[in-house]
Amino acid sequence: MNILLLGPPGAGKGTQGALLSQALGLPRFATGDLLRDAVKHGTPLGLRAKAVMEAGHLVSDDLILGVIRAELAKPVAAQGVIFDGVVRTIPQAQGVDELLRSLGRTMDHVLIFDVTDAQLLQRLAARRSVEGRADDDPAAVATRLQAYRQQTAPVISWYETHGGVTRIDAVGLVDEVAARVMRALGRA
Ligand code: AMP
Repeated sequence: MNILLLGPPGAGKGTQGALLSQALGLPRFATGDLLRDAVKHGTPLGLRAKAVMEAGHLVSDDLILGVIRAELAKPVAAQGVIFDGVVRTIPQAQGVDELLRSLGRTMDHVLIFDVTDAQLLQRLAARRSVEGRADDDPAAVATRLQAYRQQTAPVISWYETHGGVTRIDAVGLVDEVAARVMRALGRA
């Protein structure tokens, strides 16, 4: 089963993706984590992505589709994947759709994490004080939210016409949101 988690930065995709991965026994794949790891290790991918990420912009579709292709080719991905924040533009949605189709698979569920702006800003400020991520500083956060609204929000309409989406109220305690996610997947 392939599941896409979609929502603005700070919506809780990472937390819920990890819980879902455990509950369903499927690997969680987050392009954000993979890119941060590449930056940390100074790989060619990391060198190309570093400045763009730190400013809060989106990395190019070509780079992203390359890493998704490589991830899907891994044996561990054969039973399905929790795609956590992996699709952020319409070309990426189209590219992932083609990749999955070439493997005889589909995106089975698209979950949209809904959070108010006030909640997002509060959560990102809290995360910054704990994790110290460069792209959680206020200027980069503003750019990331703008990128979400301009480039990622239209992806929701794309999936609405290509299989459908399920909206999750992502405000509340971690366990409450996790229960909503399981209900949305028909597993509660
Ligand atoms: P995240 O950890 O999901 O907030 O991602 C951190 C940063 O990685 C984003 O602000 C982008 O610069 C980059 N990134 C992660 N996933 C993607 C993607 N699918 N497309 C473009 N850029 C991405």
